[in-house]
Amino acid sequence: MAMRKVVLTEDEMPRQWYNILADIKMNPPLGPDGKPVSPDMLAPVFPMNLIEQEVSSERWITIPDAVMDVYRIWRPSPLVRAVDLEKALDTPARIYFKNEGVSPPGSHKPNTAVPQAYYNKVFGIKRITTETGAGQWGSALSFACSQFGLECKVYMVKISFEQKPYRKTMMGVWGGKCVPSPSNETKAGRDVLAQNPDSPGSLGIAISEAVEAAVSDTSGQTRYSLGSVLNHVMLHQTVIGLEAKNQLAKIGEYPDIVIGCAGGGSNFAGTAFPFVLDKLNGRQIEIYPVEPAACPSLTQGPFVYDHGDNAGYTPLLPMHSLGHNFVPAPIHAGGLRYHGMAPTVSQLVNEGVIEAKAVNQLEAYEAGIIFARSEGHIPAPETTHAIAQVVKEARRAKEEGKEKVILFNWSGHGCLDLAAYEKYLAGELSNPVFTAEEKAKAAEAFANFPKPQLLKSR
Ligand SMILES: *Cc1c(COP(=O)(O)O)cnc(C)c1O
Repeated sequence: MAMRKVVLTEDEMPRQWYNILADIKMNPPLGPDGKPVSPDMLAPVFPMNLIEQEVSSERWITIPDAVMDVYRIWRPSPLVRAVDLEKALDTPARIYFKNEGVSPPGSHKPNTAVPQAYYNKVFGIKRITTETGAGQWGSALSFACSQFGLECKVYMVKISFEQKPYRKTMMGVWGGKCVPSPSNETKAGRDVLAQNPDSPGSLGIAISEAVEAAVSDTSGQTRYSLGSVLNHVMLHQTVIGLEAKNQLAKIGEYPDIVIGCAGGGSNFAGTAFPFVLDKLNGRQIEIYPVEPAACPSLTQGPFVYDHGDNAGYTPLLPMHSLGHNFVPAPIHAGGLRYHGMAPTVSQLVNEGVIEAKAVNQLEAYEAGIIFARSEGHIPAPETTHAIAQVVKEARRAKEEGKEKVILFNWSGHGCLDLAAYEKYLAGELSNPVFTAEEKAKAAEAFANFPKPQLLKSR
């Protein structure tokens, strides 16, 4: 019988995260004056211990024991050989996936929510604000805050708030408070509502609201938390790729291709960066972040300085962006509806170390269905984008008659996304496209900002 799972013992879990800032060159984030942001300028937004991680260039950073302890609720996560997907695709490729859907909220997101809650707690913070798209991040942070006795306030993109009511309930079960964004609670939200009372919301708008709510608390005991994009988030997620590497090594395998879906870039980065390190050191690997064709920051957005949020509260980040005002079509993969991309992931695309791919909504759902009917697990709509690329690579391996080893991150389960599957099964989903008009309009958002340099790390 073919082996299905490689499981590590708790003792075999990685004890350190991998920090890619030790190995690549980056443009600095810029403040409103166009000068690099200093750590103390971020102090009203994040606790200093996380800011230190954000700017650290130490290659390996120790995972605190208290974080390891919570990680052990679901980690190490299984590495699964998708034998039945291989059969369904009749491919000579060997396909492995890291199942990050086994965490309490059902995605990779608590890999960073837990350390973020921990560092806030240690710093003396009582309350964390954040935004959420599909609700995955809000539920992950609510879970993490409940583990460390912190309050959690979540601004949820309105369209998802309406499409996914159970995510809100999940946050409530863990003690988190969730409101639809744009809301009337912040100036950023009120400004958007004044222009468009029916705004479906976007991650960029929700980030503005959550940042405003944190910095306007005069008690000094509230901070903001971001579920993707930033360096420290990518850092925490590397526990996925480091575990996967150990698991593959146990069975004498090493990937030819590494794939992850990319919204802000964190589950992709967490899976891929430990392999990027090998590639920077000379190893041959294809590494693909996969984004939705309706929100194609990496494949269609230029590399620019842009804000991470809609209202322009965040520093200017060097990244591929569709413009901080861009509101993507309401595709069901809410976690992939972000106008920008992690600066680290953007930098690796610029350098040609990794190669971005885009897939459309229907091809993603089709792949999700193939997966569910072979491997059983129902993937999150975001995850189906990674699977769609895996299906393409497996078919190519068949055409070429090559025994490729493919690793991808199964970023989460879709058991709270069934309304979207319902629509797919009823033939009611479409393929929204990113138009040339949208592209031109979006570019106005960063037209007057400084331009980042094209740096070469190797
Ligand atoms: C949030 C989310 C994503 C996208 O976020 P990244 O930061 O790009 O990883 C992907 N998959 C799932 C299941 C998510 O919840």
